[in-house]
Amino acid sequence: MARIKVKLVSWDEIVDWAWNLAKIIKNDGYKPDVIVALARGGYVPARLLCDFLDVENLLSIQSQHWTEAAKAEEKAIIKFPYTVDLHNYRVLVVDDIVDTGDTLKLARDFVAENWKPKELKTAALQWISPVAKFKPDYYYIEVKDWTWFQYPWTRLEDTYQFIKRMMTETYKETGKREWSYKEIIDGFKEWYGIDVGDRYYKDALNILIEKQFIKYDEANDKYVLLTM
Ligand code: AMP
Repeated sequence: MARIKVKLVSWDEIVDWAWNLAKIIKNDGYKPDVIVALARGGYVPARLLCDFLDVENLLSIQSQHWTEAAKAEEKAIIKFPYTVDLHNYRVLVVDDIVDTGDTLKLARDFVAENWKPKELKTAALQWISPVAKFKPDYYYIEVKDWTWFQYPWTRLEDTYQFIKRMMTETYKETGKREWSYKEIIDGFKEWYGIDVGDRYYKDALNILIEKQFIKYDEANDKYVLLTM
């Protein structure tokens, strides 16, 4: 039984979800002139919506809320609050998922106040209805059970953060510092219920070595926890 509910999302699913989201927006009769990708998670969905809705203008705004996979920071902020004049344009702000809803709401309010579009709507591929304080105008999937969606564009980042969390918590529970590669992979699959493949595990371990969270002990062929 996995410790955190995680769903591994494929590129094909993303294209399918964005295609269906575009249909919902089209059927509602909304034709944006400008799409605003909410960075970073909204980039791929926004680009696909540009294609499926035939929209040429793509801008981006960056907000930060969750700095670690499946762990919320307290407050969402707009990182680079620049201003453009959009008073002649219909705008659609796009993100991947609405979880607490803080990010998309903040971006929507920022765009409304500072970019002053003629009309403004929001869209996300997924909306976690029981926890979200904000409901996007358009969404394709309503998630009723909180899940961490492991999107293809955060695969490496999520993998190293998940490994880091597994090692940290195991150390706190048992004092274990040394892990073989096989133990890490088996542990990852057990903790998170997904398998991201060797390429990601290896790169993730190299990142954790670079960050001096672990070191590789060549003589024993083990990864050793450095901090704590
Ligand atoms: P929030 O402000 O809580 O609605 O979420 C901010 C951003 O964090 C989202 O746009 C995602 O990029 C990421 N995120 C939050 N919750 C999840 C989740 N359950 N699965 C995957 N990514 C998430």
